[in-house]
Amino acid sequence: MIQLRPNYSPAARSQRCSICGSPQRPVDPVNPAGPREQTIDLGVFIEFEGEFEICEHCGIDIARVLGWIDPAEHEKLQGAFQKRIEVQDYLVEQVESARSSVDVLTREMAYQAHRVVTADADAAEATAVAVEPDFG
Ligand SMILES: [Zn+2]
Repeated sequence: MIQLRPNYSPAARSQRCSICGSPQRPVDPVNPAGPREQTIDLGVFIEFEGEFEICEHCGIDIARVLGWIDPAEHEKLQGAFQKRIEVQDYLVEQVESARSSVDVLTREMAYQAHRVVTADADAAEATAVAVEPDFG
C-alpha cells in the first residue's frame, strides 16, 4: 500500500529517496531548518535495499508523466486561462464595435452616393433645360 510518511522509515535505504538518492528536503529551501517534505512509501521491500521509499520530487515527476498537475501550477494556469478569456472578450467587443462603425460608414457612403447621383441628375436636368433650344 502506497502512503505518505513524515520521514523515511528506519528500514529505507540510507534514509534517502530510492530513485534519486536525495535525503529528505526542507519544504522551503530558504529555510533548511523548517519543516521537511514528506516521503512516499511505495509499500515495497527489496531485499538488501530496504523499503522502497521516494521523495516528493520523484513522486511529482511520476504523477506528471501520468498527466497530473501540481495544484499551485493548476491555479497559475487557471489564472492565465482567465486572463486569455478576458483578452478574448475584449477583442470580441473591439471587433463588434469596429463592425458597427463599418456598418454606419457603409450606410453614410450609400447615402452620400445617392445624394451625389441625385445632385448630378438634377444638375444634368438643369443643364439640359438651360441648353434646350427654344423652338417657340
Ligand atoms: Zn527522489
